[in-house]
Amino acid sequence: MADCIFCKIVAGEIPAKVVFEDDQVLAFEDLNPQAPTHVLVIPKQHIATLNELTAETAPVIGHMAHVAAQIARDREFAENGYRTVMNCNQDGGQTVYHVHMHVLGGRALSWPPG
Ligand code: AMP
Ligand code: ZN
Repeated sequence: MADCIFCKIVAGEIPAKVVFEDDQVLAFEDLNPQAPTHVLVIPKQHIATLNELTAETAPVIGHMAHVAAQIARDREFAENGYRTVMNCNQDGGQTVYHVHMHVLGGRALSWPPG
């Protein structure tokens, strides 16, 4: 998608601090971190929101969760705990319309969200 900033990160056209990459997904540091670790895990394929997932593309979300858990282990907060978040559309607080999983860790996080 030409106008999508996360597609541009996948293409290497916008810099990002990449922490993990394979053929399906990319993980990089959030530009505006909300916790000591705030990483975004995205599919390399452009999917605008969770609502656009199909039976064919849905498995990548499981892979993103697996990558998130590996990042938590690598950063040694897997046992203490962490949060994964996927915001969808306006009421969910989505601002970038390329599906992404926030991985927040390294401090206690309050609940419920605002
Ligand atoms: P959301 O509000 O769930 O759509 O989250 C979008 C996230 O992307 C926010 O946490 C932003 O700080 C982050 N973000 C926006 N642009 C960039 C960028 N160029 N590199 C890294 N993170 C970004
Ligand atoms: Zn995109």
